[in-house]
Amino acid sequence: TITVDTLTRWLTGFADRVTEQREYLTELDSAIGDADHGANMARGMAAVVDKIGQDPAATADALLKTTGMTLVSSVGGASGPLYGTFFLRMGASAGAVPELDAAALGAALRAGYEGILQRGKAEPGDKTMIDAMLPALDAYDAAAASGSLADALAAASAAAAEGRDATEPLVARKGRASYLGERSAGHIDPGSASTALLFDALAAAA
Ligand code: ADP
Ligand code: MG
Ligand code: MG
Repeated sequence: TITVDTLTRWLTGFADRVTEQREYLTELDSAIGDADHGANMARGMAAVVDKIGQDPAATADALLKTTGMTLVSSVGGASGPLYGTFFLRMGASAGAVPELDAAALGAALRAGYEGILQRGKAEPGDKTMIDAMLPALDAYDAAAASGSLADALAAASAAAAEGRDATEPLVARKGRASYLGERSAGHIDPGSASTALLFDALAAAA
């Protein structure tokens, strides 16, 4: 099962990864955006780690709600409200529970993803973070149906990385990169790269 401790390790691990990969995320965003995705994610997740360290949560919804609100308020870019909505919706789906089983985790991740869709109005193939997230969730569900939680999380992480790589040839239809039109093709989407880190961190935490 996924306990509040597991979720806390996930968030801390995601913060570590976006901090370590800050230059890489910024490099991706400098090609098709405004070169701040690394800084945005590192700042936002550092604020999250700070906040959840000050005030440890006993339930999944409390932890994820704090995370979402902190991202919304500390990140100015598009990614702040989008990842913020992801964690807020994920928390609302998880509820005031101390742990989640594989099915509840899958449902909570899916609710978070749907929040991003509602908020950002992107569709699969628009070259955004959802192009890493949707394949990750689908791989999770398929693997969780027959295997262990660890297998499902490993499958999700691998699928997120593939989804990230598959954004390279796409033409962006949402966000700043869409201002470049056809010239956005040939570059990996920065948000899909941070989403791959999100799933890598989850597989490592569980
Ligand atoms: P900004 O574009 O405001 O500078 P960031 O650079 O932090 O914000 O984040 C950019 C990332 O946000 C993009 O690479 C993309 O993955 C994601 N993104 C932008 N707009 C949307 C949207 N409408 N729906 C989903 N994801 C989006
Ligand atoms: Mg940017
Ligand atoms: Mg920006």
